[in-house]
Amino acid sequence: NLAEKLEGVFKRLKGRGRLDEENVKEALKEIRMALLEADVNFKVVKDFIEDVRSRAVGQDVLDSITPGQQIVKIVHDRLVELLGGTSSQLKFGHRFPAPIMLVGLQGCGKTTTSVKLARVLAKSGKRVGLVSADVYRPAAMEQLRVMGEKIGAPVIRADSSQSPVKICVEAVEEAKRRGYEVLILDTAGRLHIDTEMMEELKQIKSAVNPSEILFVADAMTGQDAVNVAAKFNELLGIDGVIMTKMDGDARGGAALSLKAVIGKPLKYVGVGEKIDALEVFHPERMASRILGMGDILSLVEKAQTVVDEKKARELEQRIRKNEFTLEDFKEQLLQIKKMGSLQDILGMIPGFSKIKSLKQAAPDERELFKIVAIIDSMTKKERNNYLIIDGRRRKRIALGSGTSVQDVNQLLKNYAEIKKMMKRFTSKGGMKALRRGNF
Ligand code: GDP
Ligand code: MG
Repeated sequence: NLAEKLEGVFKRLKGRGRLDEENVKEALKEIRMALLEADVNFKVVKDFIEDVRSRAVGQDVLDSITPGQQIVKIVHDRLVELLGGTSSQLKFGHRFPAPIMLVGLQGCGKTTTSVKLARVLAKSGKRVGLVSADVYRPAAMEQLRVMGEKIGAPVIRADSSQSPVKICVEAVEEAKRRGYEVLILDTAGRLHIDTEMMEELKQIKSAVNPSEILFVADAMTGQDAVNVAAKFNELLGIDGVIMTKMDGDARGGAALSLKAVIGKPLKYVGVGEKIDALEVFHPERMASRILGMGDILSLVEKAQTVVDEKKARELEQRIRKNEFTLEDFKEQLLQIKKMGSLQDILGMIPGFSKIKSLKQAAPDERELFKIVAIIDSMTKKERNNYLIIDGRRRKRIALGSGTSVQDVNQLLKNYAEIKKMMKRFTSKGGMKALRRGNF
């Protein structure tokens, strides 16, 4: 995939002392290939490479970083720009309800995304209703009703013998009566763009004047997703895109081309079939994900200023040998504390953000003192091998540190979890990227 390929390019750059025309050229050739293989639009790739080239050559390599790192940074920054720079918000306007219309081809994920979006907006405190204007597939309205029910979002009943336009207009009236702030309109799709569908969508658009028309794109269809989005934009006019199925094999090539080709931002991404699998689109994170580094890039930036490199190397060695002891754990917590909020930092490490108990794993200041006290109350042997800490020892440690046995249990549980994560992390080569100077 794209991430692996780029990693290879950067690894080869690592040995070089400086950025010159020759090694930049070589790296760019490979980046170009990787992007094309990831199904990024040809013209977009061409412009991208040109731009990176002009920025890379002629730039002095900073003493403290390697040419590889420097290229990563340039490529990364340019990717962020390509993806739209910053995340873009939905517009709601000043009417109640603000109609949000989801459009797209059949099977792209409109109905699922309608409900996901309703959930996200409801969570942010908005009163949200849903309605289906899909009168063609008998199961479509039922599907929305069932999914909506699951998350407790009201779905306005519609009569499938009426026209989609009438359904939408009446649903807006009903939503107004019920005091909804947002009404999400789930529309019918077709297998291909056809005039009938477009006519219908245009009529709905002029009848309800949506605050947002969001094109739902299936990432699995690659370049096609971009072409269809462009067509919808031309014929109907769209305000933004939600790209679904980003959890699949598609490595985001389509997402990369979108903004450049149609000039409309990607606003959300669907990352799974489950109702909670919708994320606000962050260009920064996406760029890092494409580069295969989680948000490690920003971690590196922060870390560079604080973490003692030699220590980091030693730690990496120990993690590699699975010797990450409680003592190391304590050191790390104190070290990381210097960089900012622990939750922020841990959240940037791939995998960590997925730990449910992140809150406990990333303690606040008071918790941190507690943890340090507990670890300080352990014998050296215990710190080196937590498995020997049985009930009797836990009691003693709790007493010694002025905490409770539960506190000790919790700490050991978190530590074990992190140790497990670290092992996974290193086996995937993530730690290598973390260590500066080694992209
Ligand atoms: P519609 O025809 O556009 O309304 O599409 P549906 O909402 O019915 O979704 C079609 C299929 O895509 C369903 O099986 C969904 O579960 C699936 N789907 C939708 N969004 C995602 C996503 O983000 N990831 C994955 N893996 N599947 C999705
Ligand atoms: Mg549907």
